[in-house]
Amino acid sequence: MSADCIFCKIAKKEIPSEIVYESDEIVAFKDIKPVAPHHILIIPKKHIPTLDDLPDEDAPLIAKMFLVARDLARSLGINEKGYRTVFNCREEGGQEVFHLHLHLIGGRKMNWPPG
Ligand code: 5GP
Ligand code: ZN
Repeated sequence: MSADCIFCKIAKKEIPSEIVYESDEIVAFKDIKPVAPHHILIIPKKHIPTLDDLPDEDAPLIAKMFLVARDLARSLGINEKGYRTVFNCREEGGQEVFHLHLHLIGGRKMNWPPG
C-alpha cells in the first residue's frame, strides 16, 4: 500500500469503483474514462509502480493478470472479434497512474500504430 496511490485505494475500497473481478491478489474494475465500449483495468493488490519495477518473483502475478483479462474478455463476449491488452510504462509509454495496471480494451476496431 502506498499512501496516496489511487489504485491502492480502489483495491482497498476506500475509493468507489465498478469492480468486475476480485481475488486475493488481483482486482479488476471499469476505467472511469473508457476509450472503447469495454475498458477494464486489471491491477495487482500489491503496489508496484510500473512494469519496470516488477520483481522477477512477481512474474506469476502478471500471468494471472492476463488470465483475468482472457476470462473477462470471454464473459464480455469480445474474445472472438478481439480486443487489446496494454501496459503503459512511464512517461513516454503514456502512464498516468503509477500503480501497475493492465488495460483490457474492446468492443470496437483498434487502430495500429497507437497514437
Ligand atoms: P495509464 O495512462 O496510467 O495507463 O492509465 C490510467 C487509467 O486509469 C486511465 O485510463 C484513467 O482513465 C484511469 N483512471 C484514473 N483515475 C481513475 C479512477 O479514479 N477510477 C477509475 N476507475 N479509473 C481511473
Ligand atoms: Zn498503489
